[in-house]
Amino acid sequence: MKFEIDYSAHAPVFNIQTYCIHDGPGIRDTVFVKGCPLRCLWCANPESNAAYPELMTYSSKCTGCGRCVPLCPKGAISIGPYEGKYVAVTDRDKCVNCGACVGACPASAREIAGTEKTVREVIDQVKGDKLFFDGSGGGMTISGGEALSHPEFSANLFAAAHAEGIHTAIESSAFAKREVVDRVFPHVDIALLDVKHMDSKAHERLVGVPNEYILENIRHIHRELGVPVILRMPTIPGMNDSIENLHAVGRFAASLGGDVSVNLLPYHRLGESKNESLGRPRSLNLEPPSDADMEAFKEIVAGHGVPVKIGG
Ligand code: SF4
Ligand code: SF4
Repeated sequence: MKFEIDYSAHAPVFNIQTYCIHDGPGIRDTVFVKGCPLRCLWCANPESNAAYPELMTYSSKCTGCGRCVPLCPKGAISIGPYEGKYVAVTDRDKCVNCGACVGACPASAREIAGTEKTVREVIDQVKGDKLFFDGSGGGMTISGGEALSHPEFSANLFAAAHAEGIHTAIESSAFAKREVVDRVFPHVDIALLDVKHMDSKAHERLVGVPNEYILENIRHIHRELGVPVILRMPTIPGMNDSIENLHAVGRFAASLGGDVSVNLLPYHRLGESKNESLGRPRSLNLEPPSDADMEAFKEIVAGHGVPVKIGG
């Protein structure tokens, strides 16, 4: 049955990043949607967690001029001390993310992350880069947040990309109902799917949900839907980088058969400052794994006969 593209389907999008080289093959535009059912302790994009626009503040840029204070309809902003100077401080319990304070700031110290965008708006922007996609074997990727949290937007945006002759990829946790998976993945050319921990209880401890559903979805996506899969494992020191878990990831990848490969993504701290900008406590502050650590992890997983790459 022909898929009728709904160009009015929409989702909160917080970034359309161009010229990406780590989100699938070739040069790609990556569309980041807001909204995710998981809460990974190491999340690199915490501004993607909530499925609504959110205020982000940058105290290091703030000059304390006070212009934003009277503009807040909720009285959420005051001037207070921060690292030896005075800056705008936002009471997150009062803030309703209305954005009224943002335009007034001469220092770009405030912004709203995320705006509702339609498939039409996104595809009109993305297709402008088709020349780069075609020359590099690239295309468009939907990332997040979680693309499967917005199945109508994602399915229709992928279909719209195909209608323009653009290759499609998804970065996903694969945590979704089966009908959502079956709605979206027929429009996906390659799937980059996370494996965060192979032990379900540990998985739940680290990201908030067990993993059985996810692993079943990954098998379904690869075997029944026939989508090429790259498994992506963020390697988080002391959390999922045990020898036992690395072997389990290798065994799982090998059990899928076919063209499945594994990317090991070294932990980094980029999400930490974003948490501060969102008014949340910093979550982790771990020492990233060394190159030697990553090479050792790679050897363990590759020992199961699957291609392994360090990085995205
Ligand atoms: S975004 Fe928050 S702090 Fe800014 S004006 Fe609106 S309610 Fe006030
Ligand atoms: S307007 Fe901008 S620079 Fe001035 S106090 Fe508010 S956040 Fe700081």
